Amino acid sequence: MKKFEVLIIGGGPAAITICKILGQKKQVGIIRPEDYSMIYCAMPYVIEKILPIQKTFKKDELVTDTGAELIRDTVTHVNLEAREVKTAKGQTYTYDKIVITTGALPVLPKIEGYDLKGVSTFKTEEDLKNIQAATENGTKKVVVVGAGAIGIELAQAFNKIGIKTHIVDAEAHILPNMMDHEMVEAAQAELIASGVTLHLNNKVVALKGKEFVKKVMLEDGTSIHLHSLDDCSEADKNVTGNGLVVFAVGMRPNVELFRDTGLAIGRDGIIVNEKMETNIADVYAAGDCVQFKSGITNEIISGKLATNAVPMGRVVAKNMLGENKIYKGFFNGAATKIENLFVGGSGISEKLSKNKFEVTVGYSELTTTFPIMPDAKKVKIKLISDKKTKKIIGGQVVSGTPSADKVDLITMAIQHGLTIDDLMDFSYSSQPYQSFFPAGNLLVNAAENAEVNI
Ligand SMILES: Cc1cc2nc3c(=O)[nH]c(=O)nc-3n(C[C@H](O)[C@H](O)[C@H](O)COP(=O)(O)OP(=O)(O)OC[C@H]3O[C@@H](n4cnc5c(N)ncnc54)[C@H](O)[C@@H]3O)c2cc1C
Repeated sequence: MKKFEVLIIGGGPAAITICKILGQKKQVGIIRPEDYSMIYCAMPYVIEKILPIQKTFKKDELVTDTGAELIRDTVTHVNLEAREVKTAKGQTYTYDKIVITTGALPVLPKIEGYDLKGVSTFKTEEDLKNIQAATENGTKKVVVVGAGAIGIELAQAFNKIGIKTHIVDAEAHILPNMMDHEMVEAAQAELIASGVTLHLNNKVVALKGKEFVKKVMLEDGTSIHLHSLDDCSEADKNVTGNGLVVFAVGMRPNVELFRDTGLAIGRDGIIVNEKMETNIADVYAAGDCVQFKSGITNEIISGKLATNAVPMGRVVAKNMLGENKIYKGFFNGAATKIENLFVGGSGISEKLSKNKFEVTVGYSELTTTFPIMPDAKKVKIKLISDKKTKKIIGGQVVSGTPSADKVDLITMAIQHGLTIDDLMDFSYSSQPYQSFFPAGNLLVNAAENAEVNI
């Protein structure tokens, strides 16, 4: 029976971050089942054939070079009182401190036909390989359920390799949690123009077929026939491959293993305080498996992003080294790409702010370089601020060039409680290839526009 000072369950970004900080300083063990940890964010680009699957495998050295011991196994039983875990390979490990980073599992709604062949989620290496195999075995048509960033990226990948692609979402526009309607309109139009069919304000209610999924039934009575390129007819003898339906409708915390261990678990995961401590001494949790609050409203919100898992892991590790770090909450800055447009958002959208804040919004639209330069592209930003305090609580960007750096600036403004007035005074840089003329800056102009709208 081997004992570790720090035992980590899980091998994702939260776990790797902890190893990087603690690996040389403590005796760390990390247990995860996969041959390879995956770069999940890059999985759509394997489907699109931009990347071979091997490029999405993280190297073991990311863990082993830190000094941590990597154990390829699955934890099957946990006794937090006895400080002991048991594994599928029959091993028992004990510890002084344990960190739970078991991540999240994709949601597969149990509607009629959910267990037919050809129905998948999109998280694991196995999901990726199954979907890839279907696309290589003649699948001609796919339905992606969910128009969040993962669904949108996946749908574009299918469309680009010549598979007729439909997206279904219950909301009125794509990226409903990230963007307001007017900020995503142009990108949505580009997606439709690229050949993707959108079914918005709609839901998948049943999947039909004998062994393989053949038909997708929507709430409004539409049926999508997976074996016909023409949606109206039942079958098309030219369509030989099997149909595919991929659910990208969210993640739920992977916490079943801990149900009877005395660990406090909430609706969205393991309950932790700002130091990522659970209700049991020396038991910590971080990443997608925890439930946490918004950094803006303090209410429990979903924040299942690698960019939240990493800072949570950092808080755990630094506190184990005697620092006094706290995790302040989710701001959920995120970005994606839709055809030629890079879109992203942070904080609270105007739509989701309803009933919480009275808001003022400000817009500005400039170019990504001096407009006289050859490759100038349009870039538009929206700032959302609390009318009472003038603090920035959200913002969105749509740009012809990558938007993540601008999303991050908005997050920084939210995180540090900056107001419209602060942003009007923002000191920025300018250069012909890299920004608009010195006469204007996106954040400053949007803040000025918001000030006018107060
Ligand atoms: C397709 C896709 C695209 C994404 N794109 C982005 C993006 O662009 N940006 C972004 O910020 N986030 C993105 N995410 C989300 C991001 O991947 C997750 O938020 C992140 O991986 C969470 O990290 P984690 O360490 O908490 O958990 P995970 O990465 O899920 O890792 C959990 C680990 O725990 C292991 N484990 C579970 N149970 C056990 C057990 N019983 N015993 C041992 N090990 C166990 C698992 O096998 C796994 O290794 C994406 C996710 C997906 C699926």
